[in-house]
Amino acid sequence: MTKPSNATADYRARDAAHHIHAFSDMKSLNAEGSRVIVRAEGSWIWDSEGNRILDGMSGLWCVNIGHGRKEIAEAVQRQMADFSFYNTFFKSTHPPAIALAEKLAEITPPQFNRVFFVGSGSEANDTVIRMVRHYWASLGQPNKTVLIARKNAYHGSTMGGGSLGGMTSIHSQGGLPIPGIHHIAQPYWFGEGGEMSEAEFGNFAARELEKAIDEIGEDNIAAFVAEPIQGAGGVIIPPATYWPEVKRILAQRDILLVADEVITGFGRTGNWFGSETFGIEPDLMSIAKGISSGYLPIGGVMVSDKVADVLYDAGEFHHGFTYSAHPVTAAAALENLRIIEDEKLVDRVRDDIGPYLQQGWRALGDHPLVGEARMTGLMGAIELVPKKPSRAAKFADTGKVGTIARDISLANNLVMRAVRDSLIIAPPLTLSHDEADQLLASARKTLDDTQAELKRLGLL
Ligand SMILES: *Cc1c(COP(=O)(O)O)cnc(C)c1O
Repeated sequence: MTKPSNATADYRARDAAHHIHAFSDMKSLNAEGSRVIVRAEGSWIWDSEGNRILDGMSGLWCVNIGHGRKEIAEAVQRQMADFSFYNTFFKSTHPPAIALAEKLAEITPPQFNRVFFVGSGSEANDTVIRMVRHYWASLGQPNKTVLIARKNAYHGSTMGGGSLGGMTSIHSQGGLPIPGIHHIAQPYWFGEGGEMSEAEFGNFAARELEKAIDEIGEDNIAAFVAEPIQGAGGVIIPPATYWPEVKRILAQRDILLVADEVITGFGRTGNWFGSETFGIEPDLMSIAKGISSGYLPIGGVMVSDKVADVLYDAGEFHHGFTYSAHPVTAAAALENLRIIEDEKLVDRVRDDIGPYLQQGWRALGDHPLVGEARMTGLMGAIELVPKKPSRAAKFADTGKVGTIARDISLANNLVMRAVRDSLIIAPPLTLSHDEADQLLASARKTLDDTQAELKRLGLL
């Protein structure tokens, strides 16, 4: 590795001295040194060494409109000039909260006309846990408290969100999960489908929900919570049979359905919401990330009329955050939604850049290292395998090969994220065709380079 510039060395030393990073092993990170991002525009980021890198992950699944949009900065400045903060606790409201709530009611599916604002996806899911339990208690069914979620789901990192999520690494620290959360199998055919066809496995995974309901008892269950497509779990796109079968099961049971749309919302899958892409009709939706394209932190829970009407009859909901409906974050979100609408980014993902990138991405499936290349809208994964076409054979020491490939991708000026031994992408919805070509070329070179490196290391 070349020696970092003095500026980078200085940044790294100060960062190492004082900054505890999210989801990081700080000792090994500090030994290696962080990449310092100093600029971003459109689909690109620049580090302090002058490298220009294609941001294949939209920051962290959030920068749907691309980086560096001046309109958002101006909207934020305008709002700050009026006022930067007032709360919504004590019989107060303000224009940005009103306009954003109204806009969300317009763009979400018809059952949604009301929103509870929060500051993040984790807070949205913590709100969901409290809200669904409060809903059933208000209906005189206080025993309906259990939330069913899936293994390897990601719902955030607070006590509630981390518990609802099905990540064993998160559960292993800090006394999670909290009581009353039950995890069932995920619809991950490539990794767990065994001898079943995709269609069979989709039905099987959905019926795990039915089994859990029968075991726990419908009278004890508040809600089923799921991402339409699991994001952080590795862009797990369920088989086509999965959601229809879940729908059939829930139609026979009195259990709420919650869609965690924190990633799949705001155009990512080629519709405004992933629920529309999969024909799901949730009672609640968690939203964050793309709502503001990450320019400022804001999230929410969309509440269907069915649930809201009960809650409104039940008096005060003892819940909220200082920054619920923060006026400046709401102004940023509103401007972001204006851009998504005016530039027809949702249609663009469905009809133009989505199909274009998907075609090139699926063609990576030809590569000898790739067991499957899948993508819906603009979120995709490639599964790296040692013995193609076997799905069963895996690399030893899960995650090692994925990390090697991820680092090689960065060296090829493309941000891809490693999940186990797969590589995932979720580029900005503004990605141009030319940038898509560059992304695909870097991804293919990464696969070639990774294959060579694995042979050199004796791992292949
Ligand atoms: C990122 C994410 C969250 C958590 O959002 P934060 O803003 O990081 O708290 C929740 N659910 C899903 C599906 C996510 O991808």
